[in-house]
Amino acid sequence: MSLKRSIWIIFYALIGFGVVYFAWSGYLRWQDIRQQAEQELRYLNHIFSSSVNLNFKQQEIMLQLIGEQLLFNPDLQSPRQAAHYLDRIQKLHPSLNGLGLISPDGDLLKATSNIDIERMPNLKSFPQTRDTFLQALEETRLVIGHTYYMDAFQEWVIPLRKAIRNEDGEVIGVMAAGIRPSQLLPRVQISTRERPFSMILIHDDSFRYAYISGLSDQALQTVIPNPIPQSQIDSTRRYLARSGISIDDLRRNPRLSTEFMIDSTLRPSLTNLVSLSYIPEYRLWSMATLPVDALYPTWHRSLLVYGLTLLLVGLVLFLLFRIIDRAQKRHQNLLLQQANRDFLTGLHNRQYLNRIESRWAGPGKRPFSVWFIDLDNFKHINDSHGHRIGDRLLRQAADRIVRRFDPKDLVCRQGGDEFIVLSHLVDANAVRERARQLLRDLLQPLEIDDYAFRIGASIGICFHPEDGENFDSLFSAADSAMYEAKKKKNSYHLYTDTLRQQVRESAHIEQALRSAVTNGEIDMAYQLQVEPDGRPCGVEALCRWNSPELGTIAPDQFIPIAERNGSIIPLGHFIIDRSLADIAALAHKRGRDDLRLSINISVRQLQEKRFSEQLLAALDRHGFSTERLTLEITESLFMEDYDYLMPVIDGLRNQGIRIALDDFGTGYSSLSLLRRLPIDELKIDKSFIDTVCSNRQDHQLVMSILEIARTLGMRVVAEGIESSDQAELLREHGCDCMQGYFFSPPLPIEELERLCHNWSRVP
Ligand code: C2E
Ligand code: MG
Ligand code: MG
Repeated sequence: MSLKRSIWIIFYALIGFGVVYFAWSGYLRWQDIRQQAEQELRYLNHIFSSSVNLNFKQQEIMLQLIGEQLLFNPDLQSPRQAAHYLDRIQKLHPSLNGLGLISPDGDLLKATSNIDIERMPNLKSFPQTRDTFLQALEETRLVIGHTYYMDAFQEWVIPLRKAIRNEDGEVIGVMAAGIRPSQLLPRVQISTRERPFSMILIHDDSFRYAYISGLSDQALQTVIPNPIPQSQIDSTRRYLARSGISIDDLRRNPRLSTEFMIDSTLRPSLTNLVSLSYIPEYRLWSMATLPVDALYPTWHRSLLVYGLTLLLVGLVLFLLFRIIDRAQKRHQNLLLQQANRDFLTGLHNRQYLNRIESRWAGPGKRPFSVWFIDLDNFKHINDSHGHRIGDRLLRQAADRIVRRFDPKDLVCRQGGDEFIVLSHLVDANAVRERARQLLRDLLQPLEIDDYAFRIGASIGICFHPEDGENFDSLFSAADSAMYEAKKKKNSYHLYTDTLRQQVRESAHIEQALRSAVTNGEIDMAYQLQVEPDGRPCGVEALCRWNSPELGTIAPDQFIPIAERNGSIIPLGHFIIDRSLADIAALAHKRGRDDLRLSINISVRQLQEKRFSEQLLAALDRHGFSTERLTLEITESLFMEDYDYLMPVIDGLRNQGIRIALDDFGTGYSSLSLLRRLPIDELKIDKSFIDTVCSNRQDHQLVMSILEIARTLGMRVVAEGIESSDQAELLREHGCDCMQGYFFSPPLPIEELERLCHNWSRVP
């Protein structure tokens, strides 16, 4: 997972945690608010029920006293006197809207003057009053009747009845009073502190409302006359059961109260928080209620504060994480830039090219040219003058390349002394002109310290999309073109149809070559080498490939491919083993081992870690003396990996194996290098021998080579001798050994055997 993602995952996790914390805090806050409200309700209910109790107790005493006065005081026996007396009392108690004395038969005997005694019904037979009246006759305590609307007074009344008994306990009258419910408990209403608390009294026996605070007369009209629905009572019981307190518990213990939430009977959409307790003296349930909605504003305010805090913390965190993210991105960009850039030249590197491939190449993408630039001779300078100079050389060369191209073109260092340029220049003539200019630029001496270096370059150029629609095929085409240019050095080459053909053929060859050794398609031919007096002194092993698919392929053609794709390793093992076996067998047959064997060895073979070990093992296996073996190597070998190869070659020479420098004169060996190289033999290239008799310069050159070799104590082998003139000339000037069609072409081992046989018969 990327660091960027991790950072933001942490951020979101923190935010998630914050949200959960917010929800949890919100929930706790709600519980808190609710508990507080319950506490308040409990307190209110307690005050309310106590007040009701007290109030009714006062009324009870008062009614008892008034009743006794009315019954026994001789001054109050006339209805007028009684009315006057009762009116005075009523005036002192504004909560009373009427007072009266009723006979045990239910007739109103005396009453306040606001009651028309004549028009009052008999309370014992009037349905609305009958029950409570009869109850009052039974009970010694104050009986509270069902609250009702008294049309005469145009107001609600809670009827109170108190039976007055004589000394024998017989009812001699019933004192009745009506209380204005609205004035029942004015104090409690003051203490509700703006919250819509409601105080309710309910008759226990009938489950009808006796009192509801804060309701309009009209509202009371619909509620008071009806008993509380059974469903509501049931659900109350259920709530109580859940809290572990039963209705009977409450009835038994007047100090006990319980709080719960229940849907309102008065307004179904409303849920009330309720505190419930019982007033046993008057068989009343006392309730304080508060709509849950009323708690929301407080809760919402808290939520708002929490939410704002969360938002603020989230914002701060976000800014913090963004700072981290940006710093990290900057760091990553820096790393990416470092990863995309070549450290030495500051140019883009190959990895960068891989990354941007899709931006440049592909169907429908704009045409462009691909330039493969390989500095000539750089390796040599780097090896002989050291890496410090080499690095500066590369930097200067890179500068020159960059300057020659457009800023929109892309110049990359592919590695070593190789550069790749993607240029928008696509016109063939313009490309040629640009290549010539670049070659001229690069050929200008590069001045470093006191030296002036001249390095040329070989440039291969191809075009997108004609020569490939992806970097792989384009680079491979440009590489092939560069390879062509390299043959001439300091030149450029455009990828052409012939080259394309060649590349296709090489691909074919490469494919077939992988199985050539195992399929037994490789054969060996041996070309004789003779001493100046004409005696054979050795043979050079040359491999031959007869492919059933591709026909006979010259080693010049397939060896470089084998070197490139690595099949030179198994091929090399085969060649060494086979030539040692053939020549050992020949020596055995001839009964003498005077023939040396020269084997061509590629750099790749020598670079193999176990090359020497395996070669010595092969010599041992075939009983071939190390002194009779010569390994032919080319100059390019010393350009490759001088430091590693030198000890390997030294090691081989110490074993007695001779080292010959093949194709001498075609490379770049300087005299000083030649002096340092661990070489026993120089093989003058055929191209000099071809013209040694006809060209004075070549003649002179060959003479010089012979002279130098003699000075350095090296043997000289001339190869490619095709005429007696050439043979004669070289013999005259002291060439140590000769090879060429003039003496013998490369021959299969059987023919070589025959040739040797005939030779042996020559006296
Ligand atoms: P080389 O090692 O310089 O071999 C000499 C080449 O010159 C051989 O070509 C040989 O047939 C040819 N030659 C010799 N005398 C004459 C002559 O008088 N006239 C003409 N026209 N040609 C002559 P060949 O066999 O085609 O080999 C070409 C090159 O392939 C070799 O050049 C060598 O570099 C490479 N090669 C051949 N066999 C092997 C091998 O077994 N291993 C490796 N690594 N390279 C090999
Ligand atoms: Mg050779
Ligand atoms: Mg040669």
